[in-house]
Amino acid sequence: MQNITAVMYMADWKCSNCGFVKSTRCKPRKCPECGQSGTFEKV
Ligand SMILES: [Zn+2]
Repeated sequence: MQNITAVMYMADWKCSNCGFVKSTRCKPRKCPECGQSGTFEKV
């Protein structure tokens, strides 16, 4: 069985600066790709 609860809490965040997409529960503070902070938007 899959853990559906974990999937429900996941969200995709996209860096508006470089387009890097990360799937986490919490909004990433800093982009690991371009190093900018505060650029992530929920997609
Ligand atoms: Zn970025």
